[in-house]
Amino acid sequence: SEDLSKTAITDSKPPRSKNLDVLQEYRKSAAKRSSNFVVIGHVDAGKSTLMGRLLYDLKVVDQRTIEKYQREAAKIGKSSFAMAWVLDQGSEEREHGITIDIAMNKFETDKTVFMILDAPGHKDFVPNMIAGAAQADFAILVIDASTGSYESGLKGQTKEHAILVRSMGVQRLIVAVNKLDMVDWSQSRYDEITQQMEAFLTSAAGFQKSNISFVPCSGLKGDNITKPSTDCKWYTGPTLLNLLEAAEPTSQERALNGPLRLPVSQVFSSSTQFPLSVAGRITSGSIQVADPVITIPGGQQGYVKGIAVDDEPSDWAVAGQNTTIHLSADIDAKLIKGGDVLCSASMPISLRQVFIMKLLAFEHIMPMFCSIVVGRLDASARITRLLSILDKSTGKVASGRGKKPRVVKPNEAARVEITVDVEGGVPIEQGARIVLRADGETIATGVVEDAK
Ligand code: GDP
Repeated sequence: SEDLSKTAITDSKPPRSKNLDVLQEYRKSAAKRSSNFVVIGHVDAGKSTLMGRLLYDLKVVDQRTIEKYQREAAKIGKSSFAMAWVLDQGSEEREHGITIDIAMNKFETDKTVFMILDAPGHKDFVPNMIAGAAQADFAILVIDASTGSYESGLKGQTKEHAILVRSMGVQRLIVAVNKLDMVDWSQSRYDEITQQMEAFLTSAAGFQKSNISFVPCSGLKGDNITKPSTDCKWYTGPTLLNLLEAAEPTSQERALNGPLRLPVSQVFSSSTQFPLSVAGRITSGSIQVADPVITIPGGQQGYVKGIAVDDEPSDWAVAGQNTTIHLSADIDAKLIKGGDVLCSASMPISLRQVFIMKLLAFEHIMPMFCSIVVGRLDASARITRLLSILDKSTGKVASGRGKKPRVVKPNEAARVEITVDVEGGVPIEQGARIVLRADGETIATGVVEDAK
């Protein structure tokens, strides 16, 4: 790669702005919405199979590949794994039959480009799921409806995962009541599970009822995934795919109106015309060519020379899109790095040294050293005050030892004060999803609460 420090081109004048109403442009454009989701649930609930089926039905994988997987799977006596392999092509994970990493997979419909941040159900793999949840617009909770399995899932990771994604600020949940083929598509079994889960999700996990949807399905057989089931005669509602398409707009519409925030994932040099480019997914707001921008924490100001969305040149970009921004030479490449945030020059993100967050504890929490992980940013910090223990369903201060606790126990929700040990603070604002780590372990996850 080029040595960026030597490309000392100074841009004389910014290009003329077309002064587009970007949101208007976006709404009338054929640009697809982009949506990230995470798949959660107990081990063996059928998560990989379900996603494999979705990719297969949407022709992301072809018949020949599937047949190859089927032959390989049959050879080792696990023919039912073929569909799940679609998700983790070519990895050694096949030998265990479980998905280990967050496999990234994309598929698209007429309206939306979806990114699956796959989250496996094995107990040790919770850290991966957290990484996925931090980027997710919504979650799919897969439940094994077969006899005994639903019940053991409840004791296992079904509830744990639901609470965890909620604690990370994920509001929308699609519950796939899976493997119904194994109980003869029993409507009473489905009703029993949906009633119990709805009660749990709205009370203990704190989801709003209107943000939860259920679908009876079989990932293995392909019922109600992209096509209505012929075996499940009593159900006439939306398929899983219908629910995916309906799940996306709310969070994105909200993000569009905010000020520009582009957490930088890469800094590079595109060409002599564009010696400094940054790439990342815009989390809030919109941008167009000639807009003045500022890098945080660097505080360097410049303007936008060019934009590419999903590698195609564009006059503009909006929240949710994967974007490359070509920057003017006023900005020094040496002073910008992954984890920084590109902002609108008039409304930059603030740098915070102290903030309040709402968290879900995995370990005992008390005033202590830790590190905070926010997207690509990883900073030393301290938990400086324990403010209250919260009731998980209402989010209000719990009765009893709720106020000024001396310790937060595992599985408790709490409000705490964090002090960052970085001079000048770190770019953080309300709603940011945060992971707290200590001694290489995740000790809590949560969301920033205070606005300023
Ligand atoms: P994961 O651990 O949640 O990713 O689960 P897998 O997708 O690996 O599935 C676990 C097992 O359940 C495999 O043997 C699958 O073939 C089987 N399975 C998954 N979905 C279904 C389904 O809808 N019906 C039936 N009968 N079996 C399924």
